[in-house]
Amino acid sequence: MFFNKPIYIAGPCSAESEDQVMKTASEIIKTPKVSAFRAGLWKPRTRPGSFEGVGAQGLKWLNKVQSELNIPVATEVANAKHVEMCLEADIDVLWIGARTTVNPFLCQEIAEALRGTKKPIFVKNPINPDLNLWLGAIERISSAGIEEIVGVHRGFSTHRAGNYRNDPIWSIVGELKSKMPNLPIICDPSHICGEREKILEISMKATKLGMDGLMIETHITPEKALSDADQQITPKTLNELLNVIDDLNITLDNGSNDEILNVLREEIDLVDRKIASCLIERFNVVRKIGEHKQKNSMKIIHTERWQSLVGKLVEQAERNGVSRITVESIYEIIHSHSIQVQNDIISKSST
Ligand code: PEP
Ligand code: MN
Repeated sequence: MFFNKPIYIAGPCSAESEDQVMKTASEIIKTPKVSAFRAGLWKPRTRPGSFEGVGAQGLKWLNKVQSELNIPVATEVANAKHVEMCLEADIDVLWIGARTTVNPFLCQEIAEALRGTKKPIFVKNPINPDLNLWLGAIERISSAGIEEIVGVHRGFSTHRAGNYRNDPIWSIVGELKSKMPNLPIICDPSHICGEREKILEISMKATKLGMDGLMIETHITPEKALSDADQQITPKTLNELLNVIDDLNITLDNGSNDEILNVLREEIDLVDRKIASCLIERFNVVRKIGEHKQKNSMKIIHTERWQSLVGKLVEQAERNGVSRITVESIYEIIHSHSIQVQNDIISKSST
């Protein structure tokens, strides 16, 4: 494997000049924990007219970082042409940005261009909170034979007036992890926060959640950066931040030797078994209701009854500190499965 955990990627949002790249990288390597130096060459800007990156001329600056500073380099690719140029220049690591992950055509095109290489590929989450788009992009890259893929959580654009530029949705990270347990997933607090003051807080949160590393935008003079100036930190701040994170990692353990946690886990295992038995019992009753409805030619869906049932459950849950959305989402799945069960009974009897 190319990377050991924790994976720390640092470097400017954009490569701006040879001088800026070399000065930033020379300072960053003073923090030996950094696994790779990042710098965007082709910048996907929301509106034309802002700095769109230096393009292919930056490849040789990244080559200079590789040869003079002996640290792997990473850049963003958004189409097959970018991939070809990066492979030609032997860039060590490529990442797919949020605006590309949303586009299955581009992801497929990038995957085809990568076929036959063994470069590690980082896949950022898509702009919108859609786990399947993220999964789909990873699957396309993986189907092209890439063995080392890393997910990057950079937050989602949710149109809510939240505290962050792109809201982190940790539950989606959890779902990705449960679908792909071997996939390392790191956090990009810079694009989540949009402002440097919040980067430490989000980095700590990601670490406490057990994420596998961080990608942090780092610039020799952040306030003068040509893109994302507010969310970049200096190499010195990066060093301090990674020291805090490493200390935090040492104090966190997975809890396997903690007696209280073990007792609580036994308790929760018991509750989960009860939930499973209740579900089985519920679907047995659903089946009996289905047979009764079928015999007596009754409608399957009774919206009012269902709404009043869920309404009562939401009330009970909210009184006990469980949110409406939690109960509604669980019951949405239960309801659709119940309808399916009854539908099957009716279809079987009519064949
Ligand atoms: C970047 O890393 O500079 C970038 C453009 O990120 P994202 O795709 O997460 O917006
Ligand atoms: Mn950026």
